Amino acid sequence: MPKHYRTLINGKWVETGKELEVKNKFSGEIFAYVPQADEALTDEAIDAAEAAFRSFRRMPAHKRSEILEKTAQGILDRADEITEIICLEAGKAWKFSMNEVLRSAETFKFASEETKHIHGETIQIDASKFGENRVGYFLREPVGVIGAITPFNFPLNLVAHKVAPAIAAGNTVVLKPASSTPLSSIILAEIMEKAGLPAGVLNVVIGSGATVGDTIVISPKTKKITFTGSPGVGDQIMRKAGIKKVTLELGNNSATIIEPDADLEKTAARCVVSAFSNSGQVCISLQRIYVNSKCVDRFTELFVEKTKALKIGDPMDKACDVGPMIDSKELNRIDSWVKEAEAQGAVIAAGGRAEGMVYLPTVLTNVTEEMKVMCMETFAPVVSIVAYDDFDDALARVNDSDFGLQAGIYTTDINKAMKAVDELDVGGVMINDTSTFRVDHLPYGGNKLSGLGREGVKFAMEDMMTIKMVMINRN
Ligand code: NAD
Repeated sequence: MPKHYRTLINGKWVETGKELEVKNKFSGEIFAYVPQADEALTDEAIDAAEAAFRSFRRMPAHKRSEILEKTAQGILDRADEITEIICLEAGKAWKFSMNEVLRSAETFKFASEETKHIHGETIQIDASKFGENRVGYFLREPVGVIGAITPFNFPLNLVAHKVAPAIAAGNTVVLKPASSTPLSSIILAEIMEKAGLPAGVLNVVIGSGATVGDTIVISPKTKKITFTGSPGVGDQIMRKAGIKKVTLELGNNSATIIEPDADLEKTAARCVVSAFSNSGQVCISLQRIYVNSKCVDRFTELFVEKTKALKIGDPMDKACDVGPMIDSKELNRIDSWVKEAEAQGAVIAAGGRAEGMVYLPTVLTNVTEEMKVMCMETFAPVVSIVAYDDFDDALARVNDSDFGLQAGIYTTDINKAMKAVDELDVGGVMINDTSTFRVDHLPYGGNKLSGLGREGVKFAMEDMMTIKMVMINRN
């Protein structure tokens, strides 16, 4: 029997009279219902967050830190249950869902620690002749109500990346998770309430982007919007938000360069995980592999062999590597892109079709940069292998993209590695790893259409606070 959930608004667990279905993404069965919010309830949640901010901003840092620490522990205490929920609602394979749970706990742990290290600076005011005999310093204050809007692909950890730093910095939150994956956020709210978070500090509103999302973005009461999702929606948010802080974590068509001195066996194994975990529905998922022509044949052979060995199917199977796509619209979109690439001359070396809701891990060769599978974000288990002769040309091709989130390079030549660091127009360069590497305290974010600002607990916190300057006149 599907379970009916309530959601947390202003410290109360509420129903709304209208429910949204939550489907098992592998079988299509409805396994839960959640309350659907409208504009009025979203405004209510924003008002509650605004009212709660008046007292929460004065909660001592050690108490906020303790709540975050208890939240981390609360997530670990319910790890198996939450893993199952992520498997079902996001279709993510069990082992990767469990990784997400462990990482989310770590994100809260990092936030708990960072809470104790918020600091300002003294300012040498008499460095100006107009500032003699004055003392100055600045401190950091929370901005107020944070509107957090999140995607489906990491339903817990990307929520953690917004909620944990917001609370650490002393803000309150109105959270809108993706409608297809709302349960992880509801469970998190339960855990945070139990950890001692006061009423109104975290409010979860579930509903469409056009209603709930828009209301959060345009409200003059939300002082910062932190968004993770597609570049198109990010662009709309930027245009509508008005004068407030905005952080955007958007898409990418991530690339990795492989030089001939790389350990090909090890590199191919890592690239397969990077390309296909969570069915490629990861913003830094490996999509374009540029391999030196001296080793491209051997690399492709190893890569295809390892791709074909992946276990596909039900994400609840602990041995599963690749589960379903999030919905049939996405499944059909990627299938049409692969078919189009094939018609334009690409060769399908593995996969290239769906099996139920799973899109088979797909390897393309003989591609050109103009194909959608290369120049747009696939956000699916589809990877292209491209040969290059000249290292500078490989760097230029990685940069020949509207996006710039992360890139990888495998080489033992320090000069080439440093040249890649210097020239790649991305937010992060991973040396001897793929574009996909991330742990949750690193500065993380993109250039170009991949976004604006940086997350990673400490860096997200910086942009969830504002500076207040203090001057004392001793004249
Ligand atoms: P999406 O943009 O469709 O949705 C993201 C969120 O925005 C959802 O909660 C959605 O309901 C909401 N939304 C939709 N329209 C809105 C509007 N007009 N106003 C306000 N909110 C609105 O993205 P998705 O399909 O859930 O996720 C996939 C995308 O997210 C990919 O492009 C992926 O690269 C990106 N992503 C980026 C990162 C990163 O850190 N850079 C991480 C994960 C995913």
